[in-house]
Amino acid sequence: MENRQILFRSTNLKAPAVSFEQALLKGIAPDGGLYMPEEIPRLSREEIREFSDAKYYEIAFEISRKFLKGEIPDEDLERIVIDAYDYEVPLEHIYDRKHVMRLDRGPTASFKDFAARMMGRLMQFFLNRNNGKLLILTATSGDTGSAIANAFYGLDNVDVVVLFPEKEVTARQRKQMTTLGKNVSILALDGKFDDCQALVKQAFGDSELDYLNLSSANSINIGRLVPQTMDYFYSFAELRSGDPKERVVYSVPSGNFGDLCGGLIAMNMGLPVKKFVVATNENDEYPKFVKSGFYEKLVPSRNCISSAMNVGHPSNIPRLVQLYGGNMDEHGAISTTPDLGRIREDMYAISISDAETEAMISSAYKEHGLLLEPHGSVGWAGLQSYLRSEGDDIDQLYISLETAHPAKFPEKIREILAFDPELPPSLQGLEEKEESYEHLPTNYRAFKDFLRSNY
Ligand SMILES: *Cc1c(COP(=O)(O)O)cnc(C)c1O
Repeated sequence: MENRQILFRSTNLKAPAVSFEQALLKGIAPDGGLYMPEEIPRLSREEIREFSDAKYYEIAFEISRKFLKGEIPDEDLERIVIDAYDYEVPLEHIYDRKHVMRLDRGPTASFKDFAARMMGRLMQFFLNRNNGKLLILTATSGDTGSAIANAFYGLDNVDVVVLFPEKEVTARQRKQMTTLGKNVSILALDGKFDDCQALVKQAFGDSELDYLNLSSANSINIGRLVPQTMDYFYSFAELRSGDPKERVVYSVPSGNFGDLCGGLIAMNMGLPVKKFVVATNENDEYPKFVKSGFYEKLVPSRNCISSAMNVGHPSNIPRLVQLYGGNMDEHGAISTTPDLGRIREDMYAISISDAETEAMISSAYKEHGLLLEPHGSVGWAGLQSYLRSEGDDIDQLYISLETAHPAKFPEKIREILAFDPELPPSLQGLEEKEESYEHLPTNYRAFKDFLRSNY
């Protein structure tokens, strides 16, 4: 049993189970569902206790090893995690036993770096072994594109093309993509994000481009889900009291629910979690679902200042539903209702308005010297709401996730706190770097010609 390989099955249940490698390289299952491990590996209390002295990459190694049993030699996996996690993960003490975990020290100062770097290196490993090649196409409204471009930058056997709407991204976001070069190509379009997305989708459906081995690196890929379990194990290991019965409360700012699903899987692996505070912005379809039991996606989604969480139908929700014994397809239709009682026991879901998000950026700084950007502020405000509702226990361990660096939102911070946040090293020197990107008209013919003549 211990060494049996874990297979991955689609949440739509109409596709064959596959290996991690196949799930990783395919992305989405052929029946339109999301891959989930057929069985979730368990860690013993002893194994979790041993994490207390471990470095981040060592925990990453132990965890990914459980999911990748038999698919990758230990030496290779170790090399991958050392290379992927070469930056700090600060745990900032705020008051009592409340902490903020800063997931913003990666190359694009966003928590998406964690999962994207691991996914890119795993893809490279499998492609190298099979002599395969992959061309990743990504449309971006800013942050995902730069995280993917940086995560895949310089890898062999994988090329990346990012399409972005020139008028909708900030200069800093653009420079995070256009100053790379090598295997990363950046295309600026005159249209909107949806136009970029439509071109990418059309390319995926175009059989004349089959020879390119197109793939996407979006957040539903299993290669992004597995790494999102690790920071939960890491933060608990660093901050636990030593009481063997201790359980931790996390607050997770959520949009597509990939980060939260990582946490839920960590809990199913044995991490002692008392509660997940699921904090959304004004896109409140999930908090409403937890309350009423009825799921209704929000169309169109609402535009909030925590822009990376403006999601009206989180693509990872079918995974969450499955973890609670239910079934939901990719469009949000539920055929088996999940166990709402257990969902309510494990999660406190709350929607935070833009006004509350801004007020919390101000009060967190004034009261605790805690500097938050809008996404982390939604998480921290969610935790405060939970404390008001369930009572504040000074002996309880609480960890709120900060998913981006405040310097990525200088206008907001300046408006509310009247100063400019200091740039982290990863964002320094961008101004002087040389940019290189192409402009394309927003039509499929031009895009296809670009792909055929360059790859
Ligand atoms: C993507 C993102 C989130 C939301 O994470 P999900 O996994 O989509 O729920 C939160 N904050 C930031 C800064 C992000 O980029």
